Amino acid sequence: MKIRVGILTAPKIEFERREDTFVLKNVRIGIGFHWDRREDQEFQGTLEIKPTPNPSLKGGAPWQVAINTIDLEDYLCSVISSEMNANSPMELLKAHAVISRSWALRAISQRPHEQIVNGQIVNDFDVCADDHCQRYEGLRRMNERAVIAVRETQGQVLISDKVTKDQVTKDQVRSGEWEICDCRYHKCCGGRTEIWRTCWEDIDVPYIQSVQCDWCDPQRKSLVHRTSVLRTSLNDYDQETRDFHDWQVRYTQEELSEIIRTKSGIDFGEILDLVPLKRGASGRIYELKIVGTKHTETIGKELKIRLWLSNTCLYSSWFEISRQLSAVSHQPSAFTLTGHGWGHGAGLCQIGAAVMASEGFSYDQILAHYYVGTRLSTTTR
Ligand SMILES: [Zn+2]
Ligand SMILES: [Zn+2]
Repeated sequence: MKIRVGILTAPKIEFERREDTFVLKNVRIGIGFHWDRREDQEFQGTLEIKPTPNPSLKGGAPWQVAINTIDLEDYLCSVISSEMNANSPMELLKAHAVISRSWALRAISQRPHEQIVNGQIVNDFDVCADDHCQRYEGLRRMNERAVIAVRETQGQVLISDKVTKDQVTKDQVRSGEWEICDCRYHKCCGGRTEIWRTCWEDIDVPYIQSVQCDWCDPQRKSLVHRTSVLRTSLNDYDQETRDFHDWQVRYTQEELSEIIRTKSGIDFGEILDLVPLKRGASGRIYELKIVGTKHTETIGKELKIRLWLSNTCLYSSWFEISRQLSAVSHQPSAFTLTGHGWGHGAGLCQIGAAVMASEGFSYDQILAHYYVGTRLSTTTR
C-alpha cells in the first residue's frame, strides 16, 4: 500500500536528484511550534511538485508542495525515527509503529488536507510531513532499528471493539477502516492523559480515556537514568526542550497584550484577567475567558488557547494563572502561567512510553495502558 505525503518547503521548491533518492532543500519542520526551523532532507520513493494554496491568510500566488509517494511501511520507518529517536528502546519503537500505522490508515481514507476549489481537488496528498499529521523527515534520522520495529509489527494496528459506527465519519465506514483506532499521541502528558473532547470534537472516544502516567515525571528515577533514556529517545531538536513536564512562563502586561493582539488579530486593550472556565480530565483548559479593557472573549479548545498565549505555541493548556498587580493602578502588571506537559495530552505519552519500554514493558503492554480497551489486530492492506 502506498501513501502520498505533502512536504511544504518554500514558495518555490529546490531539490536535487541522487541515484535512488532526492534531497529537498530548506524543508520547514515544527511549523508554528517552538522548535520551528528549516533543514535539508533526503527521501526515497517518487517526487511530484504541484501548486498548493498560499499558506498566508491573505492568499497570494500559490506555493508549491512536494508530494512524495512511498510504500506505507517505508513511510512508517521514517515517521517513528522522526517522532522519536531511532535509538529509543525497541518496545517504544514497536508501539510507535503500531499507532503511526493505525493513524495513517485512517488518514488515507480521511485526507485531512484535501480541499475542493472551483471543482478541482487541491492538496492531492494523504498526509503532510509535519507535526500537524505525523513527522516524516525522510532518511536522515532513520536506522536499522526503526526498520526492525516496523518489520516485526508488520500490518499490526490497534482495534477497539467498543467503537460504534455513529462515532466515526461516513468516509471511514465506507472505506472499512472505522474499527482502527485513531491513535493520537503527544510528547509528554505531564502526569495524566487527556480525553478527546478537550482537544477536538464533542464526542466520547472510548479508547482515549484519561489515565495516570508516572513514567514521564523527571522525579520518577534518578536523574542519571532519566537523562540516558531521554538522550536515546528524543531527537536532537527535541532535546533542547528540558522543562517539558513542569514549566513556567512569565509575561509583562505589555508582552501578553501584544502577543494576544498579534495572534488573534483583535485588540483586547490591557489584559485584566485570564479565567479558565472549563478543564478536561487532566487539567488542560479547553475554555478560557480573556478579559481585556477593550474586548472580552471566551476561546477554546486547547490548541487555540496555546496559540493565542504564546509567540509560538504554549507547551500545553494545563496551567494555573497568577496575576501580579501594580501597586499604583491595581491592574495586572504581569502574568505567570505555571503548567504541566507538552502537547494535547490525548492518547500515548511518547516520553512516558519510552521510559516504560526502558523499564521492561512490552509494546502491547504500553499500548494497553494508553489506549484503554484496545487490542492488536493485523490488517491485510
Ligand atoms: Zn497535516
Ligand atoms: Zn506521561
